[in-house]
Amino acid sequence: MSIFTKIINGEIPSYKVAENDKFFAFLDINPNAKGHTLVVPKKEENKIFDLSKEEYLELMDFSYSVAKALKKAVPCKRIGMSVVGLEVPHVHVHLIPTSIMADMQFTKKEKLTNDEFIEIANTIAAHFN
Ligand code: AMP
Repeated sequence: MSIFTKIINGEIPSYKVAENDKFFAFLDINPNAKGHTLVVPKKEENKIFDLSKEEYLELMDFSYSVAKALKKAVPCKRIGMSVVGLEVPHVHVHLIPTSIMADMQFTKKEKLTNDEFIEIANTIAAHFN
């Protein structure tokens, strides 16, 4: 079972942003930038292009709605999107509030307090529809 499945099942805590029957979105614990969010299919699949085309398009559709909420919640020039998966073998879309190119590189990291994580997650969730 992946660490993200444990998060989805509530066995490991997370800063939840949005959820439906198929997808779960929560804050990345080691964010490139404030508001860095991960969108994960509840079905555990390792690589994004091993999803069926339908599952892939549904993931993009849900990510679109999360990105819209994120853009309203966090000041930035645009929302960047990235899929890597070298660390956690469970499909996840990185949605990253981006203002400079370094925000999209996984070397610059932002330190946030627990209260800041909670506040950002709640703000994004409030804009999600
Ligand atoms: P990658 O698999 O390379 O796309 O990166 C996995 C991402 O998951 C990294 O950005 C981590 O910071 C993030 N991550 C790992 N464990 C957790 C966790 N327990 N809660 C939130 N984010 C996590």
